[in-house]
Amino acid sequence: MNNYKITLLKGDGIGPEIVDQAIKVLDKAAEKFNFTVTYDEALLGGCAIDATGVPLPAETVAKCKASDSVILGAVGGPKWDDQPGSNRPEAGLLGIRGALGLFANLRPSVIFGPLKSASPIKDDIIGDNMDIMIVRELTGGIYFGERGRKEVDGQPAAWDTEQYTVAEVERIARVAFDLAMKRDKRVTSVDKANVLESSRLWRETVIRVAKDYPEVTLNHMYVDNCAMQLVRNPKQFDVIVTSNIFGDILSDEASMIAGSIGMLASASLSGGKLGLYEPIHGSAPDIAGQNIANPLATILSVAMMLRYSLDQQAAAEAIEAAVAKVLEQYRTPDIYEDGFTKVGCKEMGDLVCAQL
Ligand code: NAD
Repeated sequence: MNNYKITLLKGDGIGPEIVDQAIKVLDKAAEKFNFTVTYDEALLGGCAIDATGVPLPAETVAKCKASDSVILGAVGGPKWDDQPGSNRPEAGLLGIRGALGLFANLRPSVIFGPLKSASPIKDDIIGDNMDIMIVRELTGGIYFGERGRKEVDGQPAAWDTEQYTVAEVERIARVAFDLAMKRDKRVTSVDKANVLESSRLWRETVIRVAKDYPEVTLNHMYVDNCAMQLVRNPKQFDVIVTSNIFGDILSDEASMIAGSIGMLASASLSGGKLGLYEPIHGSAPDIAGQNIANPLATILSVAMMLRYSLDQQAAAEAIEAAVAKVLEQYRTPDIYEDGFTKVGCKEMGDLVCAQL
């Protein structure tokens, strides 16, 4: 029987309560699909600053590296707002992504049928099965490029650099094409090749990689047009692959199409098996400790972990189906509508387990 070692980074705010529900569901899936899971907790973010003085202790990196995968709740909160930038909880987040070599960020934007009305987009535009996967490059580009201050025409000025190597573009393109092969076999590569040299290199490289995937249809879109098309006709997309900064913006836009922030999962992959799985939302300090947070984004992140890191496809599908079924009757306060039964964080976890 397979046993998986999972490191838990529960983090701050609602992090611990949502991760507790996710591991309850994972344990249930393990029982049903005949595998076992052992957990090890480590500190990240504000809780790590309180305990050790830094947001990413070396021990956390070591534990994550020694595990099959990592589940993260969320980090941050007003308590740590006066920390210097390099010692804020969010610095721990960037640090762990770098330390684990997580260069690919996967953000699905899926509408669960019963939640269609939570989308700000009209029903006929979303259709019945909107299912977009955004693949964002996570460790390169302008967020990691050289930057500085200088003087221009006697004025204080600042500059940042967008740079990509062919190797960086190739590896993220391969992640996107591999995913497309398991989906609808369509990739949209998003760039700004009409203006940026780095985008022209991006486009040339994606076209070259596409030759290895003859079954996948590739098209290219400028980022401004893509931002528009996502709300105009989201059904046209299957897999979108793009740079760090464009992906940051487009994935937030796409996530709003799907409705509530409490529903959206994500995965960050290293190219090997090890991945980091987390909800896209933050630590929600305004509702922490009240048993009202929606744990479904974290539960759906666990489903992604089963699919992309642990090769437990059937368990992943079962969790997603259980979530869809539970939503037909039960809602946490953030997605509550008349006619449904309102439940808390823990109850939502119990309901998904019972459905499984
Ligand atoms: P947030 O995502 O924490 O909260 C935004 C709003 O959504 C709040 O009203 C919150 O109550 C609600 N919300 C979020 N998750 C929810 C859930 N699961 N169920 C129900 N409601 C939910 O964003 P914010 O308020 O801008 O940031 C709060 C803290 O989180 C900050 O310190 C920020 O830096 C941090 N943050 C961390 C991450 C991360 O760990 N990956 C991501 C974003 C923000």
